[in-house]
Amino acid sequence: MQKTGRLILVATPIGNMADLSFRALETLCSVDLIAAEDTRHSGKLLKEYNIQTKMISLHKFNEAERRQTLLQLLSEGKQIALISDAGTPGICDPGADIIRACIAEEIDISIVPGANAAVSALAVSGLSDKPFTFLGFFPKKSPQAVLDEISASIYTTVFYEAPHRIKKTLQLFSASLPSRQLVLVRELTKYYEEVLRGTADSLLAHLPAEVKGELVLIVQGAGEAPPEIDREAALSLVNAFLKRGYKHSEAVRLAAKELGIKKNALYHLTLDQGLSNEENPVSE
Ligand code: SAM
Repeated sequence: MQKTGRLILVATPIGNMADLSFRALETLCSVDLIAAEDTRHSGKLLKEYNIQTKMISLHKFNEAERRQTLLQLLSEGKQIALISDAGTPGICDPGADIIRACIAEEIDISIVPGANAAVSALAVSGLSDKPFTFLGFFPKKSPQAVLDEISASIYTTVFYEAPHRIKKTLQLFSASLPSRQLVLVRELTKYYEEVLRGTADSLLAHLPAEVKGELVLIVQGAGEAPPEIDREAALSLVNAFLKRGYKHSEAVRLAAKELGIKKNALYHLTLDQGLSNEENPVSE
């Protein structure tokens, strides 16, 4: 009887090589072929684990063309593992095309699950107890439409973002959702792993001139967030109380009460804007 072919999606580490699972290792060693997003990149993983299996490239530029070759091998009963440069193949990575082709041809597909940057970042964000929306990379085109959706969404939103774009993206959040709680997760599982929490302005204040590494941005859902502050109105009201001689914290309390907004959010906003008459205002 002819062996049944199978496409096996194998998750690989998102930074720390030790995160390859035993079953992933076993699978990569035993399949007939590994289809990899970048054979040079994955060559390092294969070398590290002494995996001898032959590789073939499958990336966004040759995915359609490779489909026939892979379908032919699968129909001959070959077992093929699909891996991407990092994490779970098919999630913002090549793979969807061959996966759909296998479904259409009734070829078995299975998965060896493992690392995924979005879900890992969501877990450390502390915002994972609510339903979430994963939007892939933050859109370069028409970002305002997405910001408006997030503004109304009660779900936690998860984005991938490039280091050279993160400041621009945070500036957009600062303009549209200034008091929304964000979590910026950088270089998960790697040496410079970092989790920053705060509003867009406070994250911008933390970031170095040149941001490096891989990033996931998590946005708190609207239901959880305090109502958006009309920044100008709020700051000018605090300023008015300061001018009347109130201490910073008292001016914030009075302005927050008058505007029906959370005192803490306004306090941080005034600190971000350098608005205080106290020597060393304490971040609450
Ligand atoms: N398939 C991958 C997965 O399952 O996570 C995602 C691939 S996508 C092309 C790559 C993006 O994932 C990066 O630009 C970054 O936004 C995010 N990413 C990957 N590794 C990461 C890490 N170690 N820390 C933070 N974000 C990461």
